[in-house]
Amino acid sequence: MNAQTWTLTWTSAPRIHITSKLSAPIARDLAYRLTTQMDDARLHAALQQLAGDSTQALQGVAELQQQLETLIEIMLGAGTLRPGHAELIARLRKRVELSRTTPVALAAESDKYSVEGEPIDCESRLALCQARCCSFGVVLSRQDVEEGQLRWELDRPYRLPRDETGYCANLGHDDARCQRYDHRPATCRTYTCREDRRVWLDFDARIPAPLAPTLIPPGRLTTKRDA
Ligand code: SF4
Ligand code: SF4
Repeated sequence: MNAQTWTLTWTSAPRIHITSKLSAPIARDLAYRLTTQMDDARLHAALQQLAGDSTQALQGVAELQQQLETLIEIMLGAGTLRPGHAELIARLRKRVELSRTTPVALAAESDKYSVEGEPIDCESRLALCQARCCSFGVVLSRQDVEEGQLRWELDRPYRLPRDETGYCANLGHDDARCQRYDHRPATCRTYTCREDRRVWLDFDARIPAPLAPTLIPPGRLTTKRDA
């Protein structure tokens, strides 16, 4: 198991910085003992800070991944990689994903029915973006799990499952529409692809980033792309 790093900071108390090779349960227990001395507001602020740092790190990893995908695309195009290599890369990617994720993930509590994101003209962009936002990882919240309307990956709770196309299992193969739209998680409701380099090289000019070669877009979009 990788080393666990916990960093909790608040203003009127000493900085708590635990960097250890403790197992996750022990690290969690230690963090719990320390955090019980904080009031709810400070704990909330500290957790928000952690969530922000984590999001920033994930964004950096996502950008690196996009650069790698672009490189793979170029190598495939130049014939340096054969198509069979894409399958191998997909398997390696899955293994890396599994090894770097914690066993259980639960999104922060929020009422998903009260949040919404920036409106995006998805319908007119689908042929370009290939609905790739629905291939990104999404973690369910306690509300989602308790509602019981969405399945999650049994070996990686509580993440939305993907199917053999690399897309979320809730995305319609034929119509590229979310089959669980009314119950979709908060992440899906608030996501915007405007600044996401995994999707657009230039959002306003409608120039998409290369699609990961391992993704198989829904039929409707594949038809449009190939037309
Ligand atoms: S990638 Fe952007 S434009 Fe495409 S479906 Fe997702 S949100 Fe809409
Ligand atoms: S739940 Fe729906 S909106 Fe969210 S990733 Fe899956 S298909 Fe897309």
